[in-house]
Amino acid sequence: MTISISGHEFQREILRRAAAEDFVSHAYLFSGPDGIGKRLVALEFAGILNCKSDGKLPSGCGCGSCRKVEKGIHPDVAIVEFAGVKNIKVDQVREEIEEKLYLKPFEGRFKVVIVDEAEKLNNSAQNAFLKTLEEPPPASIIILVTSRPRVLLPTIRSRCQPLTFSALPERYIAEVLAEKGGLSPEEAGLYARVSSGSLGAALKLDAETMEWRRELLSALGGMSAGSASDIISLAEELSESASGEPGRLDLAFRFISLWLRDLALLKIGSGEISNVDMKSDLIALAESLDIPSLMERQRQLEKTWYDIVRANANAKLSLENLFIKLARRPRSGAGISQNPGGYAANIGDRT
Ligand SMILES: [Zn+2]
Repeated sequence: MTISISGHEFQREILRRAAAEDFVSHAYLFSGPDGIGKRLVALEFAGILNCKSDGKLPSGCGCGSCRKVEKGIHPDVAIVEFAGVKNIKVDQVREEIEEKLYLKPFEGRFKVVIVDEAEKLNNSAQNAFLKTLEEPPPASIIILVTSRPRVLLPTIRSRCQPLTFSALPERYIAEVLAEKGGLSPEEAGLYARVSSGSLGAALKLDAETMEWRRELLSALGGMSAGSASDIISLAEELSESASGEPGRLDLAFRFISLWLRDLALLKIGSGEISNVDMKSDLIALAESLDIPSLMERQRQLEKTWYDIVRANANAKLSLENLFIKLARRPRSGAGISQNPGGYAANIGDRT
């Protein structure tokens, strides 16, 4: 843990009190944007629950148990993560989650299993997991961590105590980035803005990724020459990286979502946009779009994410479809709709 937990005081206090007053739920659902420290708070809670001193201190009390939790070697605290996996299946739930839960605590008071990116559990895996949530093994606590709680079945959600986490202030993220060095204050500010309050996301950005964002958004906005062929190759490139590097797909969706939000903000006269470096292009583009069509685009974006990540739809076709919809202009103006026939022919040639 190189970065200590900052913020989330309210949520941490709730958990501290639950532990101190012995009023702990057997299952929690931690939700909120990616990369804001939900998992660290879950670990802190696991530490407090198994602390050998008074258990009221935040992490790092210094007892043997807390030190083990911090190092990730406590035998009763497990983080289950499925990096690089799109869909968590029933077998994996049994092997990775339930087998850990049904063991008696070795040395602590509680067996704590933290399931990161719980939205990756597919429906049958969630259904299998439901039984465990209904009849949890004694002295066990499950913490589901997710940025997309609505993807989880209502029956799962209703059996967990919810705890919602908010994004971190941009100012704080910019400060952390500036301290790390290598960025001008303007760059640190821009990185913080396009990370939507996620420190984890901000720390992963670099100049190359930011340039890729500009290319992607410019092509979707019809602001670059040859946008039609650009968006097809971008869709192709993204679908290829999606299989090996799922983080890339999430990042693209996050950038596009923010871009649509920026356009909507400009429509209502707010200048508080995220992509400040593209402001003049965005202002011009906002002219040709209206709020309902921006909302429809946001809906299409969510749907495509679901189709690809959860329903296993063909990523290339889904992304091409999405990008074409995003680049279409309802009114006359700059954009791909000026040449719909040519564009359709282009798609037709490829199938
Ligand atoms: Zn301790």
